[in-house]
Amino acid sequence: MLSLPLAGSCLCGRVKFEVTPPFTAFRYCHCSRCQKASGSAHAANAFVAAAQFKWREGEALIKRYDHAPAQRFAVWFCTQCGSRVPHAVRGRDDFLIPAGLLDQPPADMPRPENSIFWGSRPAWYVSPNKMPCLDEYT
Ligand SMILES: [Zn+2]
Repeated sequence: MLSLPLAGSCLCGRVKFEVTPPFTAFRYCHCSRCQKASGSAHAANAFVAAAQFKWREGEALIKRYDHAPAQRFAVWFCTQCGSRVPHAVRGRDDFLIPAGLLDQPPADMPRPENSIFWGSRPAWYVSPNKMPCLDEYT
């Protein structure tokens, strides 16, 4: 069953897309490549069939980087603001959606089901539920 499309955009807002759940997978990925590409401890990657994904604006601004040593790993990003944007997964008929790009994710949207490459997480990583979580910048 398809639900309503979710809108997404990059940091500067010039690249816009929409994606229609359900996701075929939604997970945090702690692999070393996702750490480099995100600059963080993990990526939050949702996947959808290509037919459930649509660019809305700004596709001409996208730079596509296919990581040569990898079978599928790629980073597509907005050349205006540097934000990662969704990318078509090489050799598959689906798109990877960095979940942080979703504009106003509804409260009932699908949740990540697992963390993968957990053993590759950086030594400094602490699960958020194991440290104080504050509502404001400190
Ligand atoms: Zn942008």
